[in-house]
Amino acid sequence: MSDVVLPLDVRGRPLRDLRLSVIDACNFRCGYCMPADRIPDDHGMDSRMRMSFDEIETLARAFVRIGVRKLRLTGGEPLLRKRLPELVARLAVIPDLEDLALTTNGALLAGQAKALHDAGLRRITISLDALDDAVFSAMSGGRGRVRDTLAGIDAAVAAGFTRIKFNTVVQRGVNEDQVLPLVEHFRGSGHVLRFIEYMDVGTCNGWQRDQMVTSAELHDRIAARWPLRALEADYRGEVASRYAFQDGAGEIGFVSSVSEPFCGDCHRARVSADGRLFTCLFASEGTDLRAVLAQGEDALSEHVARLWSRRADRYSELRGSPTVSRRKHVEMYLIGG
Ligand code: SAM
Ligand code: SF4
Ligand code: SF4
Repeated sequence: MSDVVLPLDVRGRPLRDLRLSVIDACNFRCGYCMPADRIPDDHGMDSRMRMSFDEIETLARAFVRIGVRKLRLTGGEPLLRKRLPELVARLAVIPDLEDLALTTNGALLAGQAKALHDAGLRRITISLDALDDAVFSAMSGGRGRVRDTLAGIDAAVAAGFTRIKFNTVVQRGVNEDQVLPLVEHFRGSGHVLRFIEYMDVGTCNGWQRDQMVTSAELHDRIAARWPLRALEADYRGEVASRYAFQDGAGEIGFVSSVSEPFCGDCHRARVSADGRLFTCLFASEGTDLRAVLAQGEDALSEHVARLWSRRADRYSELRGSPTVSRRKHVEMYLIGG
């Protein structure tokens, strides 16, 4: 095994965090991600183009070798990937990988939570934009029912998952009325609700700034009902600002990618299900890793270290400046958030 130097990008940022999409297909059509009128059911890549479990394991090991400590499996909807618990079992034992997590819409979780936990998964994030069934269903593009995701949550708790994170994207006039009910639902549960600002990621969602509700606005609305106290970040590069309920009923978080960009601490790479590397959520082109991946872990880690050392991305800090193009950003469902 050759010696590998941990790379820093041109802004001095190390590579610590990898989001790996295991599938580009999804059983939902959330308007902010894969609007049904823009992304047809048969849009996806041929399943033969997806990386195999052998390739994913080699890739994960190569990234860990150059500094990644946190790996999140995502999609599309990762629970649509067949035999996912087998992949989890292979990744959960990689030495030096401190944190293996999964992000899901939860609709299929009831049938898979136990197998995932048995395979070694300990951290799960569930996206949940509403508790009201009509709002939930509309936000999923008419494909989801809130009772399925709630059953998935119950199954995850029964399987042994604790301190589950919930992600809620708030769109003005769409699910604003769900914010306080969601907070009330999870207060005191030991789980952590996080509000994610609606981002201008991809091009198919037709993002407009006035559809987004800022974290500051949400914070003030919530704090008016349940006073909040700011908490220190758990670690450098944590994307959510954390707040505790002053009455001791746990904490909530805000991810303010649009209103308070955090590019300076961005240590994250993303890889699509067909093995393309994106060094920023707002990149337009990925770098195909498949050919080098075929040469094995050593070659891939050296290759990615070289690519990372040339990285200069800071889209969110430059958003709105005339030098930044709005055209042709990779879609969120290809790189998983
Ligand atoms: N399908 C899974 C899910 O929904 O949890 C995993 C993939 S999804 C792309 C990952 C996360 O991205 C979800 O929490 C979703 O809410 C978030 N997301 C998608 N599009 C977004 C957007 N335009 N702005 C903010 N968050 C977005
Ligand atoms: Fe699917 Fe997740 Fe995108 Fe919704 S946010 S369309 S569940 S990939
Ligand atoms: Fe990281 Fe790009 Fe987001 Fe900035 S815009 S925080 S560099 S992913």
